[in-house]
Amino acid sequence: MTEINSMYDYIVIGAGSAGSIVASKLAASDSNVSILLIEAGGTPPNPIEMFTPSYWFEVLQKYPEIDWGYKSQPQPNLNNRVIKLAQAKVLGGSALHNATVYVRGGQSDFNAWGEVAPGWSWNDVLPYFESVEKTMEVLAGQTDDFINDLFAAAKEYGLPENPNYNTSESQYGYAPFQFNNITLDSLLCRETSYTTFLPERYQNVTLVTRALVTRILFKGTQAVGVEYVQGKNKYSVGVENEIVLSAGAIATPKILMLSGIGDEAELGKFDIDVVVNEKEVGKNLHDDLFVSAGFSIPENKPAPIYPYSLAPAVIFGSTTNSNLAVDIESSVGVGTLKGFLGPRNSFWLWPNVMHLKSKGTVTLCSDSPDDAPLINPAYLSEPGDIESCKIALNLGIEIGNKSSLSPWRKEQIAPKPGTDLESYIRETADTTYHYCGTCRMGSDENSVVDTELRVRGTSGLRVIDASVFPLPITANTAAATMMIAYKGSDIIIQAP
Ligand SMILES: Cc1cc2nc3c(=O)[nH]c(=O)nc-3n(C[C@H](O)[C@H](O)[C@H](O)COP(=O)(O)OP(=O)(O)OC[C@H]3O[C@@H](n4cnc5c(N)ncnc54)[C@H](O)[C@@H]3O)c2cc1C
Repeated sequence: MTEINSMYDYIVIGAGSAGSIVASKLAASDSNVSILLIEAGGTPPNPIEMFTPSYWFEVLQKYPEIDWGYKSQPQPNLNNRVIKLAQAKVLGGSALHNATVYVRGGQSDFNAWGEVAPGWSWNDVLPYFESVEKTMEVLAGQTDDFINDLFAAAKEYGLPENPNYNTSESQYGYAPFQFNNITLDSLLCRETSYTTFLPERYQNVTLVTRALVTRILFKGTQAVGVEYVQGKNKYSVGVENEIVLSAGAIATPKILMLSGIGDEAELGKFDIDVVVNEKEVGKNLHDDLFVSAGFSIPENKPAPIYPYSLAPAVIFGSTTNSNLAVDIESSVGVGTLKGFLGPRNSFWLWPNVMHLKSKGTVTLCSDSPDDAPLINPAYLSEPGDIESCKIALNLGIEIGNKSSLSPWRKEQIAPKPGTDLESYIRETADTTYHYCGTCRMGSDENSVVDTELRVRGTSGLRVIDASVFPLPITANTAAATMMIAYKGSDIIIQAP
C-alpha cells in the first residue's frame, strides 16, 4: 500500500497528456506546495514495444490491459455498428497508445474558440503551443520515393505544397507529417508528456497509481477532497487549494456526474445527490470520423517500410475547396505498418473529417464507478455530415488514382470501383479517437467550465483536459490538449 498524506495543496486526477503537465508545472512553480497525482493505470507492460512508434497498431491490439475498453452504443447511421473507443488507462494516458501525430490545429479554429471563450484565440494560445514544443520534441517525418509521388499526386489534384502546416497561416496542402518522436541512440522513440515533463521527479509530487477516483467530495459547492479506491482499500484525501480533473473526455464527465455535478434529471435516475445542476456535463461529445481509400501495390514493387506509426505524409483539404475552411486531414498508411490487418502490399489514404456537426453524449449507466459510462457519439446524425464524408473519401480516391502514383498502384481495392460510397462509408467509417467537448469551456452560463477552466457553480475545482474543447479543430487532439494543460496551469499559478 502506498503511504500518502491525507491533505494536499492540489490534487490532479489522471496522469495523461494533460494531467502530467499540470502536476509538473504546479510542482515546479513552488517547491512548498504539495501535489497528489492520482492515476487509475500503472506502468506500461512492455515499454520497448510501447515506446516504438512503428508498433502503434500492434500495441493497440495486443495490450487491452492498458485500455479502458470503452465501446459506443450501436450507431444507427453506421449500420448499427458498435465502435471500439480506445482510451488509455496507464501512466502517460492516451499519449502512450496514440499515433504520436503532432498537429496544432488551424489558426481559424482557435479564432473561433476565442469568439466563444475569450482568451483562447490563436494569438492567445500560440505561446503555449510553443512552450509545450520546447519540452516535447516535434520532428517532421523523412520523405522517400513513395511520399514524393504521393505529394505529386496531391499537386495534380490541385493542392499546394505546405511544408509546415503548424506554422503556416493555413494548413491547406500536403506536407511531411510531424510526430512527437525523439531519436535516442539512433532509435526513434514515442514521447509522452508524462515521460518528458516527468511529474515524478519533483519531491513535492506524490504519485499514486492503479487508483480509481470514485468521486470528488464537496462541502456545499466547495470541492474539498477526493475519494479513490486502490486494491481493496478506499481512501479519502483532502485538498487545501484546488482539485484538477484531467481524466479525459470520457472519464471526466463521468466523475463529475458521480460527484453530483450534472443534469439533475440524469443524476436523479441513480439517486445521486445533486451538488450543481449542470445540464451540459457529458453533452457536446465530438469525435471525427475517418474514411478509407485503399490501393494494391504491384507484386514486383515492395511497399515502403517506415519507423513511424503512420506513413510520414499528411494532406489537408477542404470539403468546400477553400484554404480558409480546412476540414479534411488525410493521413496515409501502408500495408507494412506492424499490426495492420489489410494486405501487406497496399497503400491507403485515410481522410479524417474534422468538423462534423453531429454531437453525442456521455451519460451514466449506473451509480457505480466501476461501470463504463454509456457513450453515444451519434455519428452522422446531423444532415450534411454524410456528404462531408463522401467529399473526403473522394479526395482520397482521386489522389490515389492520379498518374503520379501509377508506379505504386495496381488497382483500387477499397472501395471497389463502382461501390455506392454512402453504403461503404456507413459500413467502414471509424473513430479517429478525437473525443472532446464533453465539459465545454465558454463565457456563456450554460458552458460547464468558464474561460479559466473552473467548473461553474463550484469552487476549488477545474477541468483541464480534452473535454473542455469549446469547438472541434482540424487536428488530432493531443497538441491542443497539452496546450490547454500548459495554459491552464499558468492560470492556476497566477491566480490571486
Ligand atoms: C488510439 C488513439 C490514437 C490517437 N492518436 C493521436 C495522434 O496521433 N495525435 C494526437 O494529437 N492525438 C491522438 N489521439 C488523441 C489524444 O491522444 C488525446 O486527445 C489526448 O491524449 C487526451 O489527453 P487527456 O489528458 O485529455 O486524456 P488522457 O491522456 O487519456 O489521460 C486521462 C488519464 O486519466 C486517467 N483516468 C481516467 N479516469 C480515472 C479515474 N477515475 N481515476 C484515476 N485516473 C483516471 C486515465 O487512465 C488516463 O491516464 C489518439 C487517441 C487514441 C486513444
